[in-house]
Amino acid sequence: MPHPTARKQLTSSRRVVVKIGSRVLVQRNGRPDTRRMAELVAGLAALRREGRDVIVVSSGAIACGLQALGMKKKPTDLPTLQMAAAVGQSRLMAAYDRLFARRKCRIGQVLLTHDDLEHRRRHLNARNSMLKLLEHGVVPVVNENDVVSVDEIKFGDNDALASRTAMLVQADLLVLLTTVNGFHAVDARGRRRRVDFLTDVTAETLSHATGKGSFFSTGGMASKLTSAAEAARMGTTVVIANGRQTGILPRILAGANVGTLIPASPAKPNGGLSHRRRWVAFFHHAQGRLTIDDGAREALLKRGRSLLPVGIREVSGDFSPGDLVDIVDLAGQPVAQGLSEYSSAEIRLLKGLKTDRIRELLGTEAPGELIHRDNLVVPAWRNAP
Ligand code: GLU
Repeated sequence: MPHPTARKQLTSSRRVVVKIGSRVLVQRNGRPDTRRMAELVAGLAALRREGRDVIVVSSGAIACGLQALGMKKKPTDLPTLQMAAAVGQSRLMAAYDRLFARRKCRIGQVLLTHDDLEHRRRHLNARNSMLKLLEHGVVPVVNENDVVSVDEIKFGDNDALASRTAMLVQADLLVLLTTVNGFHAVDARGRRRRVDFLTDVTAETLSHATGKGSFFSTGGMASKLTSAAEAARMGTTVVIANGRQTGILPRILAGANVGTLIPASPAKPNGGLSHRRRWVAFFHHAQGRLTIDDGAREALLKRGRSLLPVGIREVSGDFSPGDLVDIVDLAGQPVAQGLSEYSSAEIRLLKGLKTDRIRELLGTEAPGELIHRDNLVVPAWRNAP
């Protein structure tokens, strides 16, 4: 799809997720920038009035908390960061509530951890409650639940949280607001230029990405591009733009050439993946690794089959049934990922055995597959470098 068409299509976006980074909301001196916040809320409320569904993913809890607690330095220990998040999150929400109420808009706080979206039932619950809020015209304001999040259950940064939120609610558009005018790359003449249209995020693209997060924020441009590529692959168009520019949201939604546009690709809804496979591909952290032989690799990639214990050569890590594992070939190259039916300890005993032998050992009810094909995803589906 050519660039002007993709820009024009933004005008008809029905469901929009807007991620606002800490650097957009907090001034250099650590104080929340209430003027900026008010301006963004005006833009968000206008989108709502136009009848669009609006979801906000907002950072800034830790920054607001540090300021409220009079802490000049960002602490490095987890409990102090969690304390800052607890204090800051309520202040952040109070500010949003006041600003949205002035514009006759209701908001609802949604705090998530990666863990919440990894468990199937909680994942569906989170989706249902978010859809219910939208049905009632409420704007969900989402953040990571930093008060209980520890590294193992974190999304990583709010760019990843925003792309997962876009997938969860099947948004048409994801806007990542930062403090630069989009992604910049060096052109043939050696000048840094804004890239206004990006159809493919490759390792080469990422090598141009600068910025590694800051005092308050976690993600830099590389994390934005990776999250954008994943969302685009699942059917959401992404715009990375400058949240400090006045009127940025109405301009994006009017189809103006601002920021960097990454169009949804391919045109198929959800990238052609079932809801379940999307959940497997994007909402899990791998807990272990299986090395498979060439026959199993062929069966998975060429014939779309399930993974059987007979094809397993090596097991690493310590995982339970239902956990996500990486599957690599004998050369160590990634082949797929999937949810294991068996624990790592069981696979160590069963690897190389045929299904008949496994059933002799464990009974006829034992799953013949180690990973059922419905629970398998190949890296190409994620399309992130
Ligand atoms: N959840 C963090 C906060 O609200 C921000 C994380 C991020 O910016 O990526 O402070």
